[in-house]
Amino acid sequence: MHDLVIRNGTVVDGTGAPARRADVAIDDGRVSAVGEVADAGREEIDAAGKLVTPGFVDIHTHYDGQVVWDPEITPSSWHGVTTVVMGNCGVGFAPVKPDRHDFLISVMEGVEDIPGAALSEGVTFEWESFPEYLDAVEAIAHTIDIGAQMPHSALRTYVMGDRGRDHDEPATDEEIAEMTRLTEEALDAGALGFTTSRTINHRDREGNHIPTLTSAPQELWGISRALAKKGFGHMEIASDFVDLDREFEIFEGMADAGDGPLSILLNQFDDQPDLWREVLDRIRASRESGHDLIAQVAIRPVSVLLGLQSSMHPFMTCPTYRRELADLEHEDRVARMRDPQMRATLIAEHADRTRGMSGMIAQSFHKMFPLGDPPDYEPEVEYSIQGRAEAAGVEPVEMAYDMLLERDGRELMLFPLTNYFDGNHETLREMNLSEFTMPGLSDGGAHCGVICDASFPTYMLTHWARDRERGERLPLEYLVRRQSRDTARQVGLEDRGTLEPGMLGDVNVIDFEELTLRAPEMVFDLPAGGRRLIQRAEGYVATVKNGVVTYQAGEPTGQRPGTLIRGPQPAPAG
Ligand SMILES: [Zn+2]
Repeated sequence: MHDLVIRNGTVVDGTGAPARRADVAIDDGRVSAVGEVADAGREEIDAAGKLVTPGFVDIHTHYDGQVVWDPEITPSSWHGVTTVVMGNCGVGFAPVKPDRHDFLISVMEGVEDIPGAALSEGVTFEWESFPEYLDAVEAIAHTIDIGAQMPHSALRTYVMGDRGRDHDEPATDEEIAEMTRLTEEALDAGALGFTTSRTINHRDREGNHIPTLTSAPQELWGISRALAKKGFGHMEIASDFVDLDREFEIFEGMADAGDGPLSILLNQFDDQPDLWREVLDRIRASRESGHDLIAQVAIRPVSVLLGLQSSMHPFMTCPTYRRELADLEHEDRVARMRDPQMRATLIAEHADRTRGMSGMIAQSFHKMFPLGDPPDYEPEVEYSIQGRAEAAGVEPVEMAYDMLLERDGRELMLFPLTNYFDGNHETLREMNLSEFTMPGLSDGGAHCGVICDASFPTYMLTHWARDRERGERLPLEYLVRRQSRDTARQVGLEDRGTLEPGMLGDVNVIDFEELTLRAPEMVFDLPAGGRRLIQRAEGYVATVKNGVVTYQAGEPTGQRPGTLIRGPQPAPAG
């Protein structure tokens, strides 16, 4: 008698092997057999006609605060994810001095667009050191497993105090040694690695650059040495690639000093649409010279969702909007915007909205698309506001204005910020076929007001393996392997990611034909009533973590078998 048998499914086991008809048995939380299972299970799931995959492993999330108040870690756990890794991009909540809580909240709020009020209320800060933070996370039972990484911004300001907030302020040798020591301490306690950021797109609540923007190579290499000393650890870095020679000197230096893998975030940006190729060529060269570098890439355009409830829309910087509408309750704002006089005023003021990122977005009607439900993330350019306005003989700005007011002012528009320079997914396909990339960038738990990409694993299945029509798809077995085994291995987790005897019993049973990704929606369920975009899926028949069913037909069972992961996990013996 087995604990659980998942019977007659189409097993895509995460190794890349072809899909095959098989049963999966689980005992004591681990896969005990895959093939024909004769013995019955105390619990059985009929998976006939269904897809059976390993639980997905998402190594790029920002649930550092949410893990404290949300045992289910949504939306990631709605998308077949059974392991998340947080603490990316150098931001997090430990180590922290008792009088610095608000600074770290400000960095998280600014960089990741998580409401500061929600963090202030939800993050309890009953810790100072990184090990104490891990204890606090471990004390809460979760639906899925959680891995943590040491975030450089927190570490630097912990050691350097106010000087650490200034990214141009060099750390002394003593301070670097202290950061290294604290990182060793974190790794001893169970951190999976160390992360940092060198992008000007990451700023705190007040718009200041993050503390790590221009950290000296000596500082980064010094901290990385902690990983080599302990013999394990994953590193992650965000960069603007301004000077490729210098950046790769830093990357290779980190990989050398840390003697481990370094993930580099990679997107295609409109102002340098071919830069990603150059970066990948550099990564190839670095790997040939023995440096373990890899790019984390997205599975669809990283898209801002524009709307009157989100953090961005084309009229948000209009003086009249700021003065009279921005602070109103949603219903009142919508009512005022329906007034023809207000409409004329805002449309007139919109013409001057050209500065900065918000100006770029405000004027780019050729990149604004009605989202739809299910959402279309690879729309034709003719389908853009510009294209539709031209066809209808109206001004794009008027069409955008009126669209924002649809569905009681809750309509969202897709604005692909990256990876959509050519208006299709061919670049993304190429990126995802590269052996020098792996899936990342979902940013689960972050960018609550504008982005919702925690659904990447579902989109990978619906769009890339099943629905795509504007170009070639990607093989299902390949995609599953990348989102489970490859991501798990990257962060040192060899006990999960495939359905083989001895591996953790983390499994998805999916109605592949019916699998549907719903449109994102804004909800106000964060602490202090904070808002966040969520996105649901239909078609996950069951999700199993450590042999325990955590979701059935999309509903949580209330079981919480997930734990904090302490350090790298070895492959099962035998
Ligand atoms: Zn990130």
